Amino acid sequence: MSARLVLLGPPGAGKGTQAARISERLNVPAISTGDIFRANVAEQTELGKRAQRYMDAGEYVPDEVTNAMVRDRLAQTDAVDGFLLDGYPRTADQVAELDGMLATAGTRLGAVVELTADTDEVVTRLLKRAAEQGRADDTESVIRRRLEVYAEQTAPLADLYAERGLLVQVDGIGALDEVTDRIMTALEPKLA
Ligand code: ADP
Repeated sequence: MSARLVLLGPPGAGKGTQAARISERLNVPAISTGDIFRANVAEQTELGKRAQRYMDAGEYVPDEVTNAMVRDRLAQTDAVDGFLLDGYPRTADQVAELDGMLATAGTRLGAVVELTADTDEVVTRLLKRAAEQGRADDTESVIRRRLEVYAEQTAPLADLYAERGLLVQVDGIGALDEVTDRIMTALEPKLA
């Protein structure tokens, strides 16, 4: 079985944690654009240098940079039979680009999972993570900006995927295992 999935949801909804778990269960690579950008920033690659100032401000990295990176990543052999995209697409332009990449490969998405969590909960989680991990973009003002950008540019993508019959919404509040089970249950009919 091959699964081609997208995980949507606001910062702090738990996408990264759940992506790792779902990817293991379905045996597909989890591809996190945020993780790839952070690794490039840490290594100070050209890509990292281009992305860093946007990330630090809570803004999206320009589409052309992000799209090219994802195109390269999806072309790698481990992603040919399936993938779980975490944090991409995040803009209408990225949706169109992904559509093009998949059409060229003769494939299509199987489902888009939207992990939901209310704003108070995600802010609490992100501030807690800030205290524990010290991620550069987890300061209160940057968190606020990330949530705004999400609401403006990414939240509308859920409607777009719902119109295509691909969207499943899952409550991201609860114990980790519980949320994973909810996602797996919600995906079942889509993966059949
Ligand atoms: P979060 O969802 O908690 O905001 P991520 O780790 O997914 O965190 O992303 C961190 C940052 O990386 C984003 O704020 C943004 O600057 C950049 N980024 C990640 N994915 C994308 C994307 N698809 N398009 C543009 N920028 C992105």
